[in-house]
Amino acid sequence: MKNVKPEFNRIAIKVGSNVITQSDGSLNTGRMLRLVEDIAILSKQGIEVILISSGAVAAGRNDVAPSKRTSIISARQIWAATGQVKLMANYQFLFGKYGIPAGQLLATKEGFRDRLHYLNMKNCLSAMLENKVLPIVNENDTISITELMFTDNDELSGMISSMMDCGSLIILSNVDGIYKGVPENDSSELIREIVGESQEAMKYISPSSSGFGRGGMLTKYSIAREMASEGIHVYIANGTRDSIITDIVRGKEVPYTHFAASTVKKSGVKKWLSHSREFTKGGAYINKGAQEALLDDKAVSLLMIGVSKIEGSFKKGDIIRILDEKGRQIGLGKSQYDSKKAEQYIGEKRKKPLILYDYLLINDKL
Ligand code: GLU
Repeated sequence: MKNVKPEFNRIAIKVGSNVITQSDGSLNTGRMLRLVEDIAILSKQGIEVILISSGAVAAGRNDVAPSKRTSIISARQIWAATGQVKLMANYQFLFGKYGIPAGQLLATKEGFRDRLHYLNMKNCLSAMLENKVLPIVNENDTISITELMFTDNDELSGMISSMMDCGSLIILSNVDGIYKGVPENDSSELIREIVGESQEAMKYISPSSSGFGRGGMLTKYSIAREMASEGIHVYIANGTRDSIITDIVRGKEVPYTHFAASTVKKSGVKKWLSHSREFTKGGAYINKGAQEALLDDKAVSLLMIGVSKIEGSFKKGDIIRILDEKGRQIGLGKSQYDSKKAEQYIGEKRKKPLILYDYLLINDKL
């Protein structure tokens, strides 16, 4: 493949359940083969691909009918346990036809919270790519229940592409992208390009999701915008169209909605922090002086002398909120003290900061 843009050197591709399952929920292996063929073409050209595939629960549901006594949560766990194996068996077989070994990584939201787990995951995916093993990622649906779950695999695919510094993320569902109006309506126009902060497209999106997948267009849109702001090009496209992936990479005029990447680059740690917002354990109230210093353009750490109150209970290494005098959150960061020690050292002149600059994220500086 000639003249591939650098943004396609490493691509995350998210495949929704609706793309690879038939209306009865069984796996659509014909469609899977088309996608695998398309990805194999890229792999053979040296393009690195990370596949994030849904479909486990749908595939399992089609095979096992749990007894009436089984709760819906347990039923979903059973379907995930059986369906994931089936999903992977199919992928391994299909990629195998092209001489590409495929491997599985099952992620949990907890795994993204813990910096060590995060780095282990990153290391595993990097090693697979280096050794030409195609990583296939899904949520570990057997142990991810309700509040521990990703909103959906769209969110997971965003976190993976950010973690792996992918140049592009292609989200495949069963519509061509975001429309001005109802997609089924012939007169509705497809939005080709979304640049920057425009909220324009928001008003056209219906909040419901369809079929077997959890995610709807609204989450796709918000993930896409977030990723684009981190410097990743995002394409929302139709995975039921043949050769959609290679067509996008080749720059062909095919239907999709493209979210142009911002040119601002965030460091790896800061990206990890910005995805950790909802994991914060406690907080530190800071005084005016510290606030001014943090909001300044210079790189500064948050020192104990600038802290006026500690809230909640947290361990060393946990992510905590940074609050102004009125209790408004102005940022977050990884604490170098546990909450007991931090409380003990409030207002003291100590060398070791509460939060080191490299592990600190201030809202206004995003
Ligand atoms: N992880 C789920 C599965 O494989 C899908 C989640 C989603 O629909 O986004 O069935």
